Amino acid sequence: MQGETRGGPGSGKGTQCEKIVETFGFKHLSAGDLLRKEMVSDSEYGSMILDTIREGRIVPSAVTVKLILRELASGDSHKFLIDGFPRSEENRIAFERITGSEPNFVLFFECPEKEMVKRVLSRNQGRIDDNIDTMKKRLKVFEALNLPVVDYYAKKGKLHKINAVGTEDEVFEQVRRVFAQVSTVT
Ligand code: UDP
Ligand code: MG
Repeated sequence: MQGETRGGPGSGKGTQCEKIVETFGFKHLSAGDLLRKEMVSDSEYGSMILDTIREGRIVPSAVTVKLILRELASGDSHKFLIDGFPRSEENRIAFERITGSEPNFVLFFECPEKEMVKRVLSRNQGRIDDNIDTMKKRLKVFEALNLPVVDYYAKKGKLHKINAVGTEDEVFEQVRRVFAQVSTVT
């Protein structure tokens, strides 16, 4: 079974994914974390990834899909939760073409921009993109590219919207309800 989580920067995908892993035993695969790891390794893509993240743009699909595939192949789990990917139709199409598979379900964390900005600017994780200038760019990219992806999964009946405003536990209660639903159909 394969799931995906989408939502803007700071909408709580990572936090909720950790809870999902603890509770439902999925393997968590954060596209952003994989790119940051690749960035600090001595990979040929290192400086390109750094520049792209700093500018809030999207890393070419071929690179991200390669990292995700490497991770999918290395685990023995068959239940994957891909966090923060696909971010664009181009990402989605590349992933589906290369892996020949689609997610069984997609969680979308809906969060107002003001709240996302507040969370990102106060989380202090030392990320080069958690500053107001990059955050504005990330939100623009999100707004421009996310909707078609979400629409695509909605039309397939795979999209589950979560209200991302609330305490971690309040948000997780909604996530739990979605899992109760998807575990009966997959
Ligand atoms: N990123 C990307 N492709 C992906 C995932 C992440 O290019 O599939 C880059 C992009 O520049 C993004 C940054 O990594 O702004 C951080 O992504 P992450 O999901 O870690 O953070 P979020 O913006 O969702 O808080
Ligand atoms: Mg994240």
